[in-house]
Amino acid sequence: MYYSRKRPLDNIPEELTAIWSCTNESCNGWMRDNFVFLVQPTCSICQSPMEKGEKMLPAVVNTSPTQSKH
Ligand SMILES: [Zn+2]
Repeated sequence: MYYSRKRPLDNIPEELTAIWSCTNESCNGWMRDNFVFLVQPTCSICQSPMEKGEKMLPAVVNTSPTQSKH
């Protein structure tokens, strides 16, 4: 059998993740929706309003101890 070797061994799968991105075009600020607890967050860098969007990010296993209990 032939297997392509293009893929690195520790390739982290990416998934479409909900994020908030800064509306200021000169600012690259964004954050994961997981870490946003406000209805309308503002950018922590420039204080501009943020808009909801999606971004391909490495999949993260949520192992935070503060979120392990219901
Ligand atoms: Zn910003």
